[in-house]
This record gives sequence, C-alpha cells and structure tokens, in this order.
Amino acid sequence: MSTDTPSLDILLVEDEPAIADTLIYSLRAAGLVVHHVSTLAQARTHLINVIPSLVVLDLGLPDGSGLDLCREIRRASEVPILMLTAKSDEVDRIVGLELGADDYVTKPFSPREVGLRIKTILRRAQTSAVTVVSAKAFVIDGDRASFAGTWLDLTRRELHLLQRLLSTPGRIYSRDALLDLVWGQDAESMERTVDTHIKTLRAKLRSVDPTHDVIVTHRGLGYSLQLPER
Ligand code: CA
Repeated sequence: MSTDTPSLDILLVEDEPAIADTLIYSLRAAGLVVHHVSTLAQARTHLINVIPSLVVLDLGLPDGSGLDLCREIRRASEVPILMLTAKSDEVDRIVGLELGADDYVTKPFSPREVGLRIKTILRRAQTSAVTVVSAKAFVIDGDRASFAGTWLDLTRRELHLLQRLLSTPGRIYSRDALLDLVWGQDAESMERTVDTHIKTLRAKLRSVDPTHDVIVTHRGLGYSLQLPER
C-alpha cells in the first residue's frame, strides 16, 4: 500500500484463528490498520461506531452467515466488502455479489492475493467516491469541478448539486428529490433553496460557456443536466 493512502482501516470478520492471524500479519505489513472480530455480533457492535475503509468478511461464522451482515451493511453504507469463501460456497458467493459485495477470494488463498484484491477494491472505491470523471465537458476531481476545461469556483452545495445532476444526465430531479439528496438532514432547507443554488450554478456554467444551457428547467417537474453535444 503506498504511503499516500494513510489510515485505511480494515474490519476483518473471520473466526478461524490461523486464517485471521495470517491475514492480520500480512495486511498490517502492507500498512493497513486491521481490526479483527470473529463473530457477526462483534462485527455489528464494531460497525455501530466505526465505518471502516473496507470489510473482509468470512461467510461461515459461528453465529450465522456473513451474507446477513453483507445485507445489513449494504442497507446503510457503500463500504467495500471482500468475501472470504470456501470452494464449495459457490451459491453463497453469487448471493453475496448480488447483495453488493465487491469481490471474493476462495479459501485456501495466499495473504498476498487478499492484499492485492483489497488494494484493487480500495482504488476503485476511491476513484468512484473522490474522483468522478464525467463524459465530455465535465471533470470532477475531489472537491473541485471543471466545465469545458475551466475550473469552476463552486460552493460545497453547488458542487454536490452538480455531482448529483451529472450522475445521471438527462434524468429529471424534482426539487424535493434534490433537497433530499444534496441537503439531506439540514431540515431548514426549502425548495426555494434548490432554485437559488441552481440559479448560481447555472450562472457559473454560463460564464464558462454562454452558448449552452447545461441545466434544463422542467416546469412543474424539476431540473436535469444535458451534456453538450460534441
Ligand atoms: Ca469460518
């Protein structure tokens, strides 16, 4: 693991001591912080307080199936999950992937293989969470965005609004939906807040390219984003 990715923490849920010990050793050697638990109950307790960077999840646990935990985690979070499965667990593997696990390794595995899978998953997760490179005119890189090659000076809300609209170009979002998705729990916000931010965001986009109205108003429905044709 490179030094520019500090404090990545792994929750390892594995009940077989020999496997757990080997993994803990090799993941720590790779610079990861590892928290180890051996039951579903302990994992649930841990997850109440900590959302790790990634969960390594054995499916056969003393107090139940890791698939249950996988399902519970996915209800609340997008934290990456790597399943550890027995060779005979093909059905469970498929179910796990359907439930939203990111990948699996089959026992017996080499700790090195697990490390590589983790690295790949984390890289992918960081790419989708931190850097969104959108088609054509937009680039979103961490907390800044560019349009038609020009970096925009956006507020946090404007950036989140843009990211949301960009995630599905052409889809119409109602003011209500945007309030939920962008403002979330800030209960004081009102639909007018959305209009205000759309207005300022639109103005900033127009200042870069006055020939395109990227944000489309759908009367009575909401807003969508239209990527410029190239
Ligand atoms: Ca097990």
